[in-house]
Amino acid sequence: MSESMPRRFFIETWGCQMNELDTQRMSGQLMQQGILPTKEVAEADLILLNSCSVREKAEQKVYSRLGSYRRFKETRPGLLIGLCGCVAQEAGARALKRVPDLDFVLGPARVGEILDVLERRRQGERVVATGFPENREYDLDTISRHGEYKGMVTIIEGCDKKCTFCIVPFTRGPERSRPMADLLREVRHLLDYGFVEIELLGQTVNHWREPGGDADFADLLDAVAREDGVERLRFVTSYPRDFTPRMVEQFARHPNICPYLHLPVQSGSNRVLKLMARGYTVESYYDLVGQLREARPDIALSTDLIVGFPGETEDDFEQTLELIKAVRYASIYAFKYSPRPGTAAPNLPGAVEPVEADRRLQAVFAQQGEIQRDLNEQLVGEVFDVLVTGWGSRPGTITGRTPCHRVVHLPLEGAVLDGLPLGKLVSARVEQANPHSLIANPV
Ligand code: SF4
Repeated sequence: MSESMPRRFFIETWGCQMNELDTQRMSGQLMQQGILPTKEVAEADLILLNSCSVREKAEQKVYSRLGSYRRFKETRPGLLIGLCGCVAQEAGARALKRVPDLDFVLGPARVGEILDVLERRRQGERVVATGFPENREYDLDTISRHGEYKGMVTIIEGCDKKCTFCIVPFTRGPERSRPMADLLREVRHLLDYGFVEIELLGQTVNHWREPGGDADFADLLDAVAREDGVERLRFVTSYPRDFTPRMVEQFARHPNICPYLHLPVQSGSNRVLKLMARGYTVESYYDLVGQLREARPDIALSTDLIVGFPGETEDDFEQTLELIKAVRYASIYAFKYSPRPGTAAPNLPGAVEPVEADRRLQAVFAQQGEIQRDLNEQLVGEVFDVLVTGWGSRPGTITGRTPCHRVVHLPLEGAVLDGLPLGKLVSARVEQANPHSLIANPV
């Protein structure tokens, strides 16, 4: 174990935007102490794995990565390795037992304590910092937004719902909304910093409530959208049952709220939705989609789907395919059901064979592929403001997002010839549509 503090850190991040923001928070705290980031794991004397436990595969990946990083310890005395994120919260001290030379475990509600954890490790303790303390550090001045193109703001942490497949309530703890005044201060800070796109984050983002007050997510959306300089406003992840007509109204009222919404449905069968304890029906979901499209006819929707949930019959699955056809999503994140420890679903009867779940997943992809191609083709000839997010995979190209969240590839020419305008808006006309992206030219 090192006597001194580390000098270079490397972070690998899996999972959702909340984890991305936690990585920015840890990076900022470390950088403020002069500990610099590196993209080369071989250069680092502090390695952090910011993990996701939503699916078993993601969890296995983290442990296998831990196994491969451990070997650096043989040649680099003093190297520290920390497990962070949702796997850390879920495994706690078990992770230290399982990985003998793991230095510390840091849960998502404790990322504000990274420096303290390093100090305790320096004094010899193998620290387990997990759980959900009432007072949590959240210093927005130490968030490293470097290289980012959108300003993310966590408005609500944790989740009080108990969907029977989901581990999040165990890893992210009970729901806690942050006060509106703090959130608006953070938004203004991001605008001063030069961000034009603000993304509000939460596991059930639209369940935000002013602590001890009456304001709800519709009021917050309205307030953020009115801030000078907010050119684009997004939020993720919405829970269908928590949407109110006032929230829908904000889409009609504020053109800077992006015409895009991720609205996880999970299944197209009421029977399966009940087994999942989602608390809404397919009919109420359709009704919400109708309201949203009325408020904002150009709105693009995306969703999460689970296939092969315990008890899902062929008929249930057919209903899911029907729903996909009816809603015509711009994109879908579909997964085979993955049993997670502590959740109720693994005890349900009617496990679906993995081969069958795989077949269902491929059927979803095939059907969605056609819809997506069709929807993207309808965008050819349209002009969008594209928010530049990075270099393209082909030389001489850059990539970005439309307001409706499509990935766009642009040649690095004309208006953008001066270099990568990361985080800036570039006007471009769509020339060609692919199933997963658009090709455009700056205008
Ligand atoms: S709403 Fe359900 S799926 Fe979403 S985080 Fe909470 S328990 Fe998980």
